[in-house]
Amino acid sequence: MARFPEAEARNLVKKICMNCYARNAVRATRCRKCGYRGLRLKTRETKKA
Ligand SMILES: [Zn+2]
Repeated sequence: MARFPEAEARNLVKKICMNCYARNAVRATRCRKCGYRGLRLKTRETKKA
């Protein structure tokens, strides 16, 4: 069903604020919610159970 694997992968990659745990875009350098710079990358793999 993944006709555009690259696009889907991009959608799955997020950055999580280590201060407020808000999800930010992977391009974000700081949290859009609280402005904290401590973002860590989070990748969710597709569930193929
Ligand atoms: Zn935050």
